[in-house]
Amino acid sequence: MKLRQRIKSMNDNTVAFIGAGNMARCIIGGMVNTGYPAANIIAANPSRPKLDALAADFGIVVTQDNLLAVQKADVIVLSVKPQLMGEVCRQLIAGVPDISEKLFVTVAAGLPVSRYEEWLGPVRLMRTMPNSPSLVGLGVTGIFASRCSNYEKSFVDSMFSATGKTVWLDQENQINDITAVTGSAPAYFFYFMQAMAQKAELLGFSPDEAHQMVVQTALGAATMATQSSLSFADLRAQVTSKGGTTHEAIETMRNAGLELMVADAMQAAIRRAEEMA
Ligand code: NAP
Repeated sequence: MKLRQRIKSMNDNTVAFIGAGNMARCIIGGMVNTGYPAANIIAANPSRPKLDALAADFGIVVTQDNLLAVQKADVIVLSVKPQLMGEVCRQLIAGVPDISEKLFVTVAAGLPVSRYEEWLGPVRLMRTMPNSPSLVGLGVTGIFASRCSNYEKSFVDSMFSATGKTVWLDQENQINDITAVTGSAPAYFFYFMQAMAQKAELLGFSPDEAHQMVVQTALGAATMATQSSLSFADLRAQVTSKGGTTHEAIETMRNAGLELMVADAMQAAIRRAEEMA
């Protein structure tokens, strides 16, 4: 109830993370590093070492008892693996009488709002799709809200803005689209970088040299794109003289069907996300 009533200070809300793994850690880290009071964050996890590390690194409250964490919280972030989500939700509904007063945020891939409603009833829920660069504060999180107020949306927006950028989705099925565009996408870039480093090694560079050169080039290109108002096509054209070396390389990729292959790969990710729902 507090979350819906208090407009003054968002930092008053107590946030409980159920599951204290990688994704919880990066959201907690982002929140604390951007000034959210550590005393208002609780993490619950079955094993102790991750909790001890979170308490030591960020000064948050930790517990091995999910129910205790949820009872004290206004916002519940469900951050366990999708296959454990049903079991966790059933535990919460059985053990927390005022569960319908809480705001739920899930980071789990694949599970639709309707599944949570089967487990928890008609709760206020935000379904989110963060990506792994959230770990370094450069993530993108897609968010779809069901039954939530504007105040609740602002609160969750500020939580995820602490780990990068947020994208609000009007339709739940756009979660599958954003999974293909941002969620799975860090791996596409790693794959491209892997292919470049492999060729650099074949040319005689050491693995370390190849790695450093590819990473620095990727970072440089991404930084140029963030600092420029030009489209990707125009940025590419700027460094591609007709008849030059870059032109030869790009034409080779184009003739091999790179654009179609990327579109097919992204469509395959969407199809898989739909199957998992
Ligand atoms: P993870 O590191 O394995 O974290 C999951 C945590 O849940 C573990 O610490 C685990 O504890 C804990 N746990 C297991 N059973 C529990 C229970 N009954 N109650 C409370 N906690 C329990 O996984 P993750 O990468 O953070 O992923 C968590 C969620 O984020 C998943 O649903 C995933 O789909 C989503 N997600 C992750 C990413 C990503 O890049 N990592 C991106 C988007 C979405 P123990 O290890 O002690 O068993």
